[in-house]
Amino acid sequence: MRIEVDSVILEADNDKEIQEPLKNAYEGRKDLFCLCSLGRPRLYLAKVEDTYVSKRWPHTGHEHDPSCDHYEPKLNPGQGVMGDAITENTDTGEFTLRVNFAFSKALPKGSKSKDDEKKEPVVKQGDAKASNPSFGLQSILSFLWEQARYNRWYPKMEGKRHWGNVSYNLKEAASHITTKGVKLSERMFIAQRLTEKNGRYINAELATFKHSLKNTKGKKTKLGILIDQFNGIGQQGNLFQIYLKNLPNAPIMLTDKSMAGLERKFESQINAFDYGANVIAIAQVGLTDYGDLVYERLGLLVVDSNFLPFYGMHDKELIDQAVAERRRFIKPMRYELNDHISIPGITLIDTEEPIDIFVDASTTDEPFEPVTDDPYRIWQPMNPNGRDLPEAISSDTRIDATSPLESDAQDTSEIDPFDEPVFEPQPEAVVGEDDSGEMELTNTPPVSASA
Ligand SMILES: [Zn+2]
Repeated sequence: MRIEVDSVILEADNDKEIQEPLKNAYEGRKDLFCLCSLGRPRLYLAKVEDTYVSKRWPHTGHEHDPSCDHYEPKLNPGQGVMGDAITENTDTGEFTLRVNFAFSKALPKGSKSKDDEKKEPVVKQGDAKASNPSFGLQSILSFLWEQARYNRWYPKMEGKRHWGNVSYNLKEAASHITTKGVKLSERMFIAQRLTEKNGRYINAELATFKHSLKNTKGKKTKLGILIDQFNGIGQQGNLFQIYLKNLPNAPIMLTDKSMAGLERKFESQINAFDYGANVIAIAQVGLTDYGDLVYERLGLLVVDSNFLPFYGMHDKELIDQAVAERRRFIKPMRYELNDHISIPGITLIDTEEPIDIFVDASTTDEPFEPVTDDPYRIWQPMNPNGRDLPEAISSDTRIDATSPLESDAQDTSEIDPFDEPVFEPQPEAVVGEDDSGEMELTNTPPVSASA
């Protein structure tokens, strides 16, 4: 990375190597610029604990070179709909999200609780002017996924992604997001990968989460958010249970009435799971007096074996092909966009300029034309001549065009920091030991080495 501050150029592999000048820039409130591209996109500095972290200025991701860690495609249709429901604080690097559900509800016992009853997330219409956009559970999971960068793919990530590092990075992302005045991480339990060694630790974490949901007599029912790998739905008498992969002893209970709505809403995701897909669940839950988790609402995200999200058969095929051809790309996330709104299947970032790839699986002769000002290509899964992806330029070419230092930065960015499952009581220590972790976490401020 190369950063310009006060006409001085700072060169380093990561922010940690240039803490002193970054500190001065932060304290002097200097303007910072990323030198990855001729446009010199603006950066800001956030102080996270005792570390100074450079971050891209809001909405300027596309001005960075695609090889730069700050790069984001110009078009983010799913997140774009959220508009001012997302606020980024350029002093702290923290996000505030406006959500459309409550974190408590009236006591159900005896009385009919109409407060907050099954308030389904507002369905977004792909209309950027939606009057009062806000986040539902599905959107929160999508935002966390983007922040933790699991919608990006570099060939070097092959074989390195598993729930151990996914859950860790989601947790890290959640610690920089606030909803309704409270850190998301304080309302949220993200299950770690269950191994032979850490069952006890996961149980202790779960017990802490459950404790936070305990109700005081006469007060409203508290609700929390839980994220884990979905593991199917089962039935016991009149009750249904949502099973979670890493919490085998803590299924989420739901009534047959809730079950009917859930099956309707998540038919395709549950179907995908039944046929072997990896599905991530985000659930809002309450607690019974006996410590059982009770369903309140749910979001499901279907991902492939590399934890890349996909939204249908052809979407998956496109991702499979791009991964097999060792391409670098970003997977745009749908958030809560309606199915009929077409967004790019992937955005290739190893081409001369980023190219959106739209899937056209229609069998009519009418050419499909997406509404976009950005460079795009149509990918036709059913046309043998329509499946080619635009050619990649070698990363060397791009590096020559910018700076020799970029090659180092790029190499580190492609290494997934967590080869081993994370199940330490203080996972921060694991990150601190591994400098390469910094690049993967660029969007979310790194944890200080001394933590
Ligand atoms: Zn840049």
